Amino acid sequence: MEHESFPRCLALDFDGVLCDGMREYFQTAWRVYCQVWLGHEIPTPATLEPTFARLRPVIETGWEMAVLLRVLLLGTSEESIGRDWPTLRDRQVASDGLDPKELAALTDGLRDDWIADDFEEWLGLHDFFPGAIARLQQILDSPLPCHIVTTKEERFVRKLLAREGILFPAGQVFGKGVQRPKADTLRLLAPTDDGRGLWFVEDMLSTLHKVKKRPDLQGVELFLADWGYNRPEDRRVAMADGDRLHCLSLDQFCGPFSRWRSRRDSSC
Ligand SMILES: [Mg+2]
Repeated sequence: MEHESFPRCLALDFDGVLCDGMREYFQTAWRVYCQVWLGHEIPTPATLEPTFARLRPVIETGWEMAVLLRVLLLGTSEESIGRDWPTLRDRQVASDGLDPKELAALTDGLRDDWIADDFEEWLGLHDFFPGAIARLQQILDSPLPCHIVTTKEERFVRKLLAREGILFPAGQVFGKGVQRPKADTLRLLAPTDDGRGLWFVEDMLSTLHKVKKRPDLQGVELFLADWGYNRPEDRRVAMADGDRLHCLSLDQFCGPFSRWRSRRDSSC
């Protein structure tokens, strides 16, 4: 398929593309861990957070985060977690007699309480990737339509952006509340029947693959944000695609669109 050098419409994921919520993930996971396995809160072990951050890409849903801490604290190596996470996770949940649904409800509830108790503290655990805010502002100042497509709640996205001085246009943030797969939202945003003209930046490879499989989105250009929550093997897959899936660096993201599809270094 012939490629165009510029998008006609842009869709951006939020966490792992614009916003780095790693400190919040870790603190939430730690609170859940303490509640489930210790019954009371203790200070976090110093070396745990960097290990958790490296392994965060193995996680698909929020409730798994505390189980990851449990498995790590039982002494499982980083390497085997990276290789066998779904098996290790299910085994741990079974041996501790836990129910993923209950863990999910506990995680959500704990987060809700935290937000209700101290919203500012919670917001303060989020960072933006270097240069992301300036680039976003530049895009918003241009005629290019730009949307945020995320599983985070829209009100949190807006609040976090507002703290950085960004007022995102009404109707252009598609958050958790829309309750539909990202691919369906992209279909609504696409300027053409086959999706051509729409460029989508996301840090989860499985999400990009779902979009890639859709016949009605076969013209969408797909970018894996290599600075987000993904692993070297995910980046290699994106690099090797050679078609509509591209591995994008933060430098490229912050630069002109004409350079997004040409990867010149070999860091992936
Ligand atoms: Mg993401």
